[in-house]
Amino acid sequence: MPGVEGVHALVRRAHEERVLTLLRERGSLSRAQIAARVGLSRTTLSEITSELLARGAIVVVTTDAQVRAGSGRPAELLALDPHSGQFMGVDLGHTRVRVAVADASHEIIAQDQGSYAAETPWDERLAAAFALIDRIGRDSGVTYQALQGIGVGVAGPQPAGSPHYEQAAAAFRQRFAAPVLVDNNTRFAALAEAIADGEEARDVLYVRLSDGIGGGLVVSGRLVAGRYGVAGEFGHIPADPAGDVCRCGKRGCLETVASVPAVLRACRLAGLDDLAAAVAAGEPTATATVERAATAVGKVLANAALILNPERIVIGGRLVSAAPGIVARAGAIVEAELVPVGGDRPDIRAARLGDDDGARGAIAALFRQSPLLAGYPEAAGSMA
Ligand SMILES: [Zn+2]
Repeated sequence: MPGVEGVHALVRRAHEERVLTLLRERGSLSRAQIAARVGLSRTTLSEITSELLARGAIVVVTTDAQVRAGSGRPAELLALDPHSGQFMGVDLGHTRVRVAVADASHEIIAQDQGSYAAETPWDERLAAAFALIDRIGRDSGVTYQALQGIGVGVAGPQPAGSPHYEQAAAAFRQRFAAPVLVDNNTRFAALAEAIADGEEARDVLYVRLSDGIGGGLVVSGRLVAGRYGVAGEFGHIPADPAGDVCRCGKRGCLETVASVPAVLRACRLAGLDDLAAAVAAGEPTATATVERAATAVGKVLANAALILNPERIVIGGRLVSAAPGIVARAGAIVEAELVPVGGDRPDIRAARLGDDDGARGAIAALFRQSPLLAGYPEAAGSMA
């Protein structure tokens, strides 16, 4: 049995571990934020952080002056020593690859993108990703020596155990000798939107309206892949029983009403710039088509919200960039559908992040594997 001194040391070690875990998940926080989240008194926490600062395990990265509205001295923000680790997020999309590298304090220290044709074979996509990673290294001076993990987002629904997942995981593991987490890139984007701007929401529905329609769910702070890895496929929920035949073979899926190709086809327009101009000018066909799409999206999201009771609903994708009114219209439908169940309404918002959302979400998934995402990845991901 340990003596009194030994017990104190064990307790202190446990406190330190909780503080370090919290900072690994959240990036930088003030002492007050840390104290509130780990449930320690300010005095005890001050002792712990002083010790960790003295050992160099954590550092003062900046102050909260830029977000502080009131008076008073800005609080110092503490973070893990940024040099103690690097985390890489890779987003292999249909026509481009994006890579972002974060340090242990969650700062993005390097990022860039490269493009390839839509029909590019899988091994050439991976080669393009590695070429981009090499270029980022040369341009930024980042050597990847401290890589602690790599998150790789892959486009499109990929059932668990998909050869693309296995191939990507094997290629990155071989190249960097670091653990690799592979998952759907839209799902990673959902996680990034759940924590965007430092405003974390634990229950989030995310839908992306682009060439296809995908989505992701965060439930109780966990990214949900589903048993077979294809959770969040909003695009193939029926929206119009008398609608067009979908590429999946069913009729009237949401994707046949509210994807970019479906909307452009209905408006007889060539591109999203044309759509944006037509919507801004109040052109009747474009207005009616976008309204129909927004209504369909709202109904599907309302059904999902009735089941999951989310705190936040995020609508993103290229269609929303061209016709931002979709968010308010879909949001109004959700609000109306939720009236009978009462309670607080979810915050319905446009996506906050840009095209780097998948790469950022992949990094966030690495930071949050434990304990917030305890057990993640489930069936779909592979981390080895
Ligand atoms: Zn479909």
